[in-house]
Amino acid sequence: MSFKSTLVLGTLLFASLAAKADNVILMIGDGMGPNHLKCAGIDKPLYIPTLPVKGWVITKSADSEITDSAASATAYSCGYKTNNKYLGKLPDGKNCLTIAEEAERKGFAVGIYSTDYSTGATPSAFYAHTQSRYDSKTIKSDKEKAGKKMDIAVPVKHISDEVKPRLKKLSHMPDKKGFFALFEGAKIDTKSHKNDLEGMKKELYDFDYAVMKAVNFAYSHPDTTVIVLADHETGGLTDSCSYTRKGHTGQNIQVHAYGQHANLFKGVQDNTDINKKIRTILFGSSKK
Ligand SMILES: [Zn+2]
Repeated sequence: MSFKSTLVLGTLLFASLAAKADNVILMIGDGMGPNHLKCAGIDKPLYIPTLPVKGWVITKSADSEITDSAASATAYSCGYKTNNKYLGKLPDGKNCLTIAEEAERKGFAVGIYSTDYSTGATPSAFYAHTQSRYDSKTIKSDKEKAGKKMDIAVPVKHISDEVKPRLKKLSHMPDKKGFFALFEGAKIDTKSHKNDLEGMKKELYDFDYAVMKAVNFAYSHPDTTVIVLADHETGGLTDSCSYTRKGHTGQNIQVHAYGQHANLFKGVQDNTDINKKIRTILFGSSKK
C-alpha cells in the first residue's frame, strides 16, 4: 500500500471514529431515595438495582441543605448549584446553558419526556430560564421555543410507554452525532409528598420498567450510556417503609448506570458532577 493510500485510509478511519455516535439516556425518578427502591423491591424484584454500576449523589442546593426539584435539575442540566426554585439560572440570576441546549447546538438529537405537569420543574430545567419554577408564562414560552429544536413531551401518561418509540425516533434523526434523552418519573415524588406508599410503588414500578427498556436499547446500541438517579429524597422514608415527613430531605440519593461509560458514575459525587460526566461522554470534555 502506498503512503498516500495509507494516509487516505487513516483519514477515513479517523473521520468514521469522529462521526461515531455517543448517546446518553438520563432517567430521573423524582423523589426516589434509597428506601423507595428498597421498599418497592420488597413486593416485586426491581430491575434498577441489578445495573452493574452504583454510586451516590450529594443533592444540596446553593442556598439550602435540602434541595427542591428546580435547583437539583438545574445542577444536572447546567453543572452548577443554584438556589431553590431557580430553573436554568445561576444564583446571580444569569442564564446557564443546559446540556439539552448545548447538545442540540453541537448536532445531537435531544428528547425530554416526563410524567410531570406541563410546566413541572424537572423537565423545565433543561429548556427554561427563570428565577421561579412557578413562572409558568416564561416556562411555557421557553418550552415552545425549545420544542422547535428538541423532541419534548411533557406530560406523558406512562413513562415506560415512551422509551422505545422515543429512542427509535431520536436514533433515526438524520445527520445527528448521537442523542441526549431525559425520561422522568415525576410522580414518585408526588405520591411521597402525600405519604402514599402504595401509590409511590406503582409509580416506581413504571419507572423501573422504563429503565429496563432503556437498558435494552443500550444493549443493542453499545455506544449508549444509561444513568438512573433521583433529584432528591421525598418523605423521609425509613428502611422499615414508613414516611416521616411530607417534604424533601437532604439525604444522598443513589445513581445506577449501564453502558459504555457507566464506570464514570461510581463512588460519591456531587450533583453538579453528573452534568460534567455527561458532557465528557457526549462532547469529550466537561468544559463549556
Ligand atoms: Zn417534591
